[in-house]
Amino acid sequence: MTAEGPHHAFWADDIADEIEAREPTDPIVVKGAVSPSGIPHIGHLNEILRGYYVAAVLRDRGHEVRQVFTTDDRDALRKLPRRLADADWNIVDLGAVDAAALGENLGVPYSDIPDPFGDCHDSYGDHFTALLAAAAARLDIPVEVVATTDLYESGAFDDVVHDILANADRAREILARHQDHVDDDYVPFMPNCGSCGRQLTTRVTGVDLDADTVDYECVDVTVNDQSIPGCGHRGTAGFREGKLPWRFEWPAGWQVLEVDHEPFGKDHAEGSWPSGVDIAEELLGIDPPVPLVYEWFTVDGEALSSSSGVVVTVPELLELVDPAVLRYFFAKDPNKQRNLDLTHVDQLVDEFDRFERRYFGAADGTDQEMAFAERAYPFVVETVDPDRVRLPYRFAAVLGMVEDRDLQVRMAENEGHLPPDAAPAVVEAALARVDRARRWARREDNAYNYELQATCPDVELSDAEAAALEELAAFVETTHDGDAIQARFYELAEEYDLPVGDLFAAGYRLFFDDTEGPRLGEFLGELDQTFVVDRLRREA
Ligand SMILES: [Zn+2]
Ligand SMILES: [Zn+2]
Repeated sequence: MTAEGPHHAFWADDIADEIEAREPTDPIVVKGAVSPSGIPHIGHLNEILRGYYVAAVLRDRGHEVRQVFTTDDRDALRKLPRRLADADWNIVDLGAVDAAALGENLGVPYSDIPDPFGDCHDSYGDHFTALLAAAAARLDIPVEVVATTDLYESGAFDDVVHDILANADRAREILARHQDHVDDDYVPFMPNCGSCGRQLTTRVTGVDLDADTVDYECVDVTVNDQSIPGCGHRGTAGFREGKLPWRFEWPAGWQVLEVDHEPFGKDHAEGSWPSGVDIAEELLGIDPPVPLVYEWFTVDGEALSSSSGVVVTVPELLELVDPAVLRYFFAKDPNKQRNLDLTHVDQLVDEFDRFERRYFGAADGTDQEMAFAERAYPFVVETVDPDRVRLPYRFAAVLGMVEDRDLQVRMAENEGHLPPDAAPAVVEAALARVDRARRWARREDNAYNYELQATCPDVELSDAEAAALEELAAFVETTHDGDAIQARFYELAEEYDLPVGDLFAAGYRLFFDDTEGPRLGEFLGELDQTFVVDRLRREA
C-alpha cells in the first residue's frame, strides 16, 4: 500500500502524492478514529499524529485540508476496563468508581453511559473523548473532533443507512467474503433498545424501508464470555437510534465525511479494511480513501491496551520529554514496529537533537537522514527557531541533581552548553529539560537519581581520606577536567594506600550524603570549581 514511483525522504509526502493523484477537491479530508473505551494512550495518538503529518504536507503543497477525528461513541461498552483516568489524568483502578453501576451499562453505547467520575462530562464517551482531545492539544495538533453519535442523531447517516439496508442481500454477500457465519437473516444495523438502552442485546426482526425503521427484540447475549441480559422488550427504532456494524460504519463514514485519507492500525489491514473497500466500491459506489497502515508500538516492551490498563499517556510522557520529541517519534516511518523505551528515553532525545541539528546544518547524516530532517523538521516543531538551545538530555539529568538554578546555569555555561549571553527566555526554555530529566532519573531510579547536598553533610573521615581529599581539592583548583579528576581519584587512593571504593564513597558522602552516585570525577568536573574545592575541604 505504498506509492509506486519515486520515494520521498518523508513518508507523508508519498501519501500526499497518492492523494493528489486522485485529483481531490478541496478541502481534502483526513480522518482518524478511536472508540472512547477507556484511558487514551499514546498508541491512540497514531490516529491523530499520522494524519497530522499528511495534512501538514498537503497544506504545505497549497491545499486546504480538514483533519477530522471521529470519536466512535455510539459503540457499546463490551468490557469493563481495569483502570480509568479522571479529568486530570489521574489513573485509578476500577474500584475507585462505582463499578457496579458501570457494569449495569455493559452493552450500552458510550455516549449513553453516565460519566463514571460524576458530572465532569455528559457521558462516559464524552469523558474519554475529552481526554484524547486534550492530549492532541498538549501536542498542539489542531484536529476537529466529530462524535459519531452526533452524525447519527443529526441525520447525516440517514441516507447511507437506508442504502445499505435496501441492499441487505448484497451487503450480506460482500460480508460473507470476509467473515465466516453470515446468517441469511443478518441485518447490518444495531438498534439501541428503547427500554433498557442496550445495543448489544438487540436482534433485528424486521426492516421497514418506507418508514426507515427496524423492529427488534432485546435478548440475552454473551460477549467476551460475559453474559449481558436482554430486557425482553420488543420495539421499533429509527435509523438515528442505533448504528451500523463497524465494517459498514467505517465505509459509510468515508462517504458521509468525504474522506480522502485515513491511517489505521495493522489489525484493520486484514479485517475491516478489505471488506470496507468492497463495501465502498460495490455497495456505496465510492472510492475508499488512500490508506496508511501503521505498525503498533510498544512501551518498554509491552503492548498498550486501555481495557487491560497497560497505558502510557501523553501527559505522563511530557513529564519526561519535550512535546517536539514526542511529535518526532510519530514522524518516523509508520511501517516499522517500534518500542518506546522509557528506561533509555535519553537515546530518543539524543536522536531528536541530532535530527534538529541536521536541519540547521550543524550535524552530519546520511543523504536520507539529511533530507528527512530538511523536510520533516518544520512540521515537528511548533516554530523553527535557530536560537533555541537544547541541553543534552543526560547533561540535563546531571543538572537535575542540583537544586540551585544559578548553579545549574553556571554549570551549563562552563560546559559550553549554554552561551553566556543567552537571553533569559532562552535559558528558561533550555532549563525546562532539566526538570524533565530529573523526573526521568526519579522514575527510573538510575545513575542520575542523586541530590547534591547544598550544605556539607556531617561526615566522619579517616586521616588518610581527609588528606587525600585535601590533595584532590588542590588538584581541582587547577582544573575542572572531569576525566582528569576521575584519574586523580585512583592515583590518590594508591598514594594513600586506600581502597579506591572507600575514597569514592567518602566523596559520595560529602556531595550526596549517600554511599554511591554517578561517575564522580566527571560529575565534579561539571560542577562549579570553587564549590567543589570548598566541599572537598568541608568548608561549605
Ligand atoms: Zn468526566
Ligand atoms: Zn432492552
